[in-house]
Amino acid sequence: MLVRPRDRDVVCHASAWQMDASEDVRVKACLLPNEEDLSTIYHELGHIYYDMAYKDQPYLFQSGAHDGFHEAIGDTIVLSMTPSYLASVGLAKNAAPSREATINEQMRMAADKIAFLPFGKLIDQWRWQVFSGQVQPQDYNKAWWTLRQHYQGIAPPTPRDETEFDPGAKYHVPGNTPYTRYFLSYVLQFQFHRALCAAAGFNGPLHECSVAGNSEAGKRFWAMLQEGSSQPWPDTLAKLTGTREMDASAIIEYFAPLKTWLDEQNAGQQCGWEGA
Ligand SMILES: [Zn+2]
Repeated sequence: MLVRPRDRDVVCHASAWQMDASEDVRVKACLLPNEEDLSTIYHELGHIYYDMAYKDQPYLFQSGAHDGFHEAIGDTIVLSMTPSYLASVGLAKNAAPSREATINEQMRMAADKIAFLPFGKLIDQWRWQVFSGQVQPQDYNKAWWTLRQHYQGIAPPTPRDETEFDPGAKYHVPGNTPYTRYFLSYVLQFQFHRALCAAAGFNGPLHECSVAGNSEAGKRFWAMLQEGSSQPWPDTLAKLTGTREMDASAIIEYFAPLKTWLDEQNAGQQCGWEGA
């Protein structure tokens, strides 16, 4: 199902499905032909291609190296959708944007990829406090906003109390879907991207790299995907990246132009929201 059916209600939250531990793979989504949904379908196809890559592993090993890997595969590919790539397939006019356009695009991306990190971290942190009993039902909402303020620096627009249950507004909380996987994937996807760019012999700034059409990068990526969960994840990570540790420095490298610009804009300013 790729578009919203006209004749019935469906759950539109996009998802990918491996039906038979072989080649029957499916996506359920309500896609529109816009930029956001282009990323969404690549994200879901990342799950599908991972499923296809490890289908010859024993059944128990047919899953991601850790669940952050599964969420990172499609997003990694989207990082190769540079202006020059998009121009080459007729989806953008300007293959070489100005510095201003690059900063704008990096800011737009950072509002997604970087602003997400503290949010991605705190969902399960709150949930584990609940499951362990460290936070009791009468404090569920308060504990939520304590984490939101501490990590994200945001406050609710209206006063909140325990007659409200704001964590329930996040799909994955009532849906009981683990969330640390997304936090991990936002680190991994940049690490994967950097490794693929190195495999492709790319030498320029990381945000300008596209590995589209590069067979060496594809071969290395596919080889990692084929391992599934058949070995400890650091072994699988090392096979592609040469390191056994997750490493967020690729994020800093990717956003270097934005960081330079922000350092200029924020010169002399006090940053942060706690203990300032
Ligand atoms: Zn996903």
